[in-house]
Amino acid sequence: MSSSIKERITTIRSSLPDSVRLIAVTKQVSCEVMRSAYAAGLRDFAESRIQEATSKQVELQDLTDITWHFIGHLQSNKAKKALSQFSWIHSVDNLQLAQRLNQLAQELKVSPQVCLQVKILVDPNKSGWSATQLLADLPALNQCENLKIQGLMTIPPAGLDDAEIARVFNRTRELAQEIQRQNWSNIKMQHLSMGMSGDYKLAVQAGATMVRLGTILFGDRSV
Ligand SMILES: *Cc1c(COP(=O)(O)O)cnc(C)c1O
Repeated sequence: MSSSIKERITTIRSSLPDSVRLIAVTKQVSCEVMRSAYAAGLRDFAESRIQEATSKQVELQDLTDITWHFIGHLQSNKAKKALSQFSWIHSVDNLQLAQRLNQLAQELKVSPQVCLQVKILVDPNKSGWSATQLLADLPALNQCENLKIQGLMTIPPAGLDDAEIARVFNRTRELAQEIQRQNWSNIKMQHLSMGMSGDYKLAVQAGATMVRLGTILFGDRSV
């Protein structure tokens, strides 16, 4: 079991450019398997539920050099926990949440790295800014000085073909470039968190700097 995880990690790692950060999505993955992934060299782990993450973080607290990433929809009543338990939040998906995180970050004296989640296509199943909304919210986001805004995150809608998915990723990169050109003092656009098991190759081609992989590393969670 652990050797097959190691092999999968090695194969995928070697297929990615060195500059792309491989983030292991460990929702519904046991701590035992996470330890195998750690032993195989992974240090970036992502969870989408605070409660599940909390118990794992306790159980894995001896692995002190893990970087924890939060990638799920964050309710504002969980914002404080997210800040104290995660160094990265990829899924900041609206201005109110960003402002709440900013205020709490000041109280907790933390400076989380965050990505702004965008929806390039209309998608009722996902949260996130539309490109137009995001551009309008940039002045307010720039004032969230306790957040280290590092880039954009996106998840394409289900059911697209490869060409359409590639277009979503390319549009996301272009939006990041457009924001970068505006030279905000507190908004960096150095990272693109995009690509999951089914589409990470397209994401990397489009310029992803972080891919979030679950199934391809750990198998299908639904069985
Ligand atoms: C579950 C999840 C992933 C990983 O998806 P896989 O298809 O299993 O690789 C990536 N990003 C987010 C936001 C997720 O919820």
